[in-house]
Amino acid sequence: AKVAGKDCFRFYSRSMDQAVERWVHLEQELRVAWERGQLSIAYQPVFRLGDGALVGAEALLRWNHPELGLVAPSVFIDVAEQTGLISVLGPQVLQAACADAATWCSAEGTEPLFVSVNVSPRQLRGGDLPDVVSRCLAETGLSPHCLHLELTETAVIGDEANASLMLDQLRATGVKVWLDDFGTGFSGLSHLRRVPVDGVKIDRSFVADILHDPDDLALTTAIIAMAHSLGITVVAEGVEKEGQYALLRERGCDLAQGYWLGHPLALPELLALIGQPTPP
Ligand code: C2E
Ligand code: CA
Ligand code: CA
Ligand code: CA
Repeated sequence: AKVAGKDCFRFYSRSMDQAVERWVHLEQELRVAWERGQLSIAYQPVFRLGDGALVGAEALLRWNHPELGLVAPSVFIDVAEQTGLISVLGPQVLQAACADAATWCSAEGTEPLFVSVNVSPRQLRGGDLPDVVSRCLAETGLSPHCLHLELTETAVIGDEANASLMLDQLRATGVKVWLDDFGTGFSGLSHLRRVPVDGVKIDRSFVADILHDPDDLALTTAIIAMAHSLGITVVAEGVEKEGQYALLRERGCDLAQGYWLGHPLALPELLALIGQPTPP
């Protein structure tokens, strides 16, 4: 058993070396990925449950790596966040998403469709987020009402004072702020009292089981009721089945997104869905 233990240790330490090596490598490649045109944004449509109308889209970063193929954000966002690269990447994504949304948000006669952009904890702590947002809006001509920012609960926890200040500044410009992955942090409900947000996104892990797990359904129903009593919009993410959609609608959830409703799309596909002419 001892020998096996030793081997095990060697195995783990070598794979850890490899992981570190790969991590450093990923960071270096990610640094130049934007200029090399390897990064793009996919847009997942968001629908209103009441009437099924398309109301907006979430911007999701994609990395098409020359050797590895499509690398998931779950892999590289962590690298970008921990190395600080997100301070460069974040504003680039925001700028690009605002520019894209300006093409669909200004259509006359129709209800404007929002774009929802993920903001990392480091971007929020950085302090210049309101300035970065204002600059993006000014440069792209996007109306502030068409921009939503998604912050995770963990970005806000432990730093409520700074977070509230930022969020107040952002919301004063007309931009909406949503709390992402809601319900996964431990003190989610109490945070809503101290952190000013316009909406919460119920985490996929809750939505996944609402048809079979009475506890998850009870939690989801409670989140909806509580958010509504505070005048906050509720978005459900990860809707993969018609039954989930129907149940969420019955419980009064406002908006939803998920594979059953629509996968993340390249911009031309989203524009086709909206019914806008595709740029050449
Ligand atoms: P998220 O903000 O919770 O985004 C939703 C994720 O769920 C996306 O994965 C989306 O493709 C996926 N998804 C959508 N519908 C379904 C469904 O019905 N079932 C399942 N199983 N999954 C669904 P994606 O694109 O891989 O993004 C993963 C995470 O990476 C995001 O989670 C977000 O936290 C982060 N991320 C993505 N883009 C950005 C970005 O531009 N900036 C920052 N800071 N983070 C980003
Ligand atoms: Ca999100
Ligand atoms: Ca989420
Ligand atoms: Ca469960």
